Amino acid sequence: MAHPKRKWSKARTARHRSAWKLNMPGLVECPQCHAKMLRRTVCKNCGYLDGRQVIKVDEEI
Ligand SMILES: [Zn+2]
Repeated sequence: MAHPKRKWSKARTARHRSAWKLNMPGLVECPQCHAKMLRRTVCKNCGYLDGRQVIKVDEEI
């Protein structure tokens, strides 16, 4: 099995843990309504995905 060459130092472990989820991975801004949404998912705010409306949402512009 693949195996790490050496043990991670305590400092590196601490650094790694402290950096956990500093910026939410997969959370992006919707190009349509600029609301925070999960990447590769239909935007819950406007229902858009890849530049087209996929689900029907009551929107106010
Ligand atoms: Zn949107």
